[in-house]
Amino acid sequence: MQDFLLTEEDRAFRSEVRAFLQRELAPRAADIEDRQDWNAVKHVVRALGEAGYLRLMFADLYRGSLKKPGLTHATILSEEASTINYAFETTIATALSCAYPLHRHASARLRDAYLEPILDGRAIGAICVTEPGTGSDSADMQTRVEFDARTNEWVINGFKRYISNASVADVYIVYGVTPRDDGAKPRVTAVAVPKDVPGISFPRNYSFMGRRGCIVGEVKFDDCRVSADHLLGDEGDGFAIMRGMFNFERAILGGSGLGVARSAFEIARQHAQSRRTFGQFLGCKQLIWDKIAQMSWRIDAAELITYRATKMYDAGADGKALMKEAAMAKLVATETANFCVNEAVQILGGDGLTKEYGRTEQLYRDARALTIVGGTSEMVKYLIASRDLPELKINL
Ligand SMILES: Cc1cc2nc3c(=O)[nH]c(=O)nc-3n(C[C@H](O)[C@H](O)[C@H](O)COP(=O)(O)OP(=O)(O)OC[C@H]3O[C@@H](n4cnc5c(N)ncnc54)[C@H](O)[C@@H]3O)c2cc1C
Repeated sequence: MQDFLLTEEDRAFRSEVRAFLQRELAPRAADIEDRQDWNAVKHVVRALGEAGYLRLMFADLYRGSLKKPGLTHATILSEEASTINYAFETTIATALSCAYPLHRHASARLRDAYLEPILDGRAIGAICVTEPGTGSDSADMQTRVEFDARTNEWVINGFKRYISNASVADVYIVYGVTPRDDGAKPRVTAVAVPKDVPGISFPRNYSFMGRRGCIVGEVKFDDCRVSADHLLGDEGDGFAIMRGMFNFERAILGGSGLGVARSAFEIARQHAQSRRTFGQFLGCKQLIWDKIAQMSWRIDAAELITYRATKMYDAGADGKALMKEAAMAKLVATETANFCVNEAVQILGGDGLTKEYGRTEQLYRDARALTIVGGTSEMVKYLIASRDLPELKINL
């Protein structure tokens, strides 16, 4: 598609970053998938940091040649990275989701200590929201973040699971509840917790069907103490901080979905033009045309909706003003990815199911997480409908 939402500068950036990732990520993608090679992941994160690509979201800290860097460019980076390897892309997207609240809400000392190393690719970040008893219903979290006035410290107790970059991250943005003296409903508070603080532990990592190479595990906090300046925003600001982060994360996930969808489409397209059945190329059959056409229009729709959200953000929209469009980007692109991997497997037949005949089976496994992470498809549909039915209280 002639992606007319993107400017000439955006398109030049896409070519540049594609060449960079072909050089740095593509030769390591098999090691990341087959051996979950964390050193390979770290190498590419470092290379991206050194090249300044992890600063795209943060115009005041950016040092490159783009006139107006922003979420559009960060999403292009995500799209191009996940075209090659979605597991790797999740590592950097998570690190950026950690950098985002640090940039907006942390003290200058915290920014120097944690934000700068992440943007340089020297450190990794993680986000801790999900718990065993609460995933979609994040308002019900049980982790406690309490202030100890005697020592001037925040004390964290709780258990988080399904945390991307758990154990390998250097800093964790932890969301937990802070009880109130008047007995009112506790509010959510966000703090930054470094990896080496006493009381933090990583009981186990999970073995997922896809995204192999991105480490996802549990994080436990037993009386972890961080000094008062590790607070993000003010006490009780956590929910608003989280909402801002999710907008940004969902637009980026639009890029992740697009990358996976495009890879699957390209493999299917080539197969349809080279495989012969019943004396003709597979692509000559009308039932296959239908699949190709459906993949094609869905990818174009996902691209338009995704970059509409990023362009809105870059023009200043945020919070509630972006919630619906960011949710739509996430929903459409991740559902499109799942549609495309499924159709690609069907078009390839047996070849689509085997490692011996290419990446289709990997894409199929990888895509499945996309409609669950960062707010499930069901949850983002609620967000969309809540904007369309403003007079009604939607009962989850
Ligand atoms: C690979 C991976 C990486 C992750 N990384 C992170 C991370 O870095 N940090 C982090 O904090 N979390 C992370 N998560 C957790 C992720 O955000 C949650 O898995 C997600 O929010 C869903 O929560 P849950 O798994 O507890 O499912 P549940 O909330 O139990 O939901 C189960 C199913 O029920 C549906 N459902 C729930 N409520 C309703 C309702 N009211 N109406 C209709 N349907 C409903 C959901 O949509 C879902 O399909 C990760 C998860 C995965 C799989």
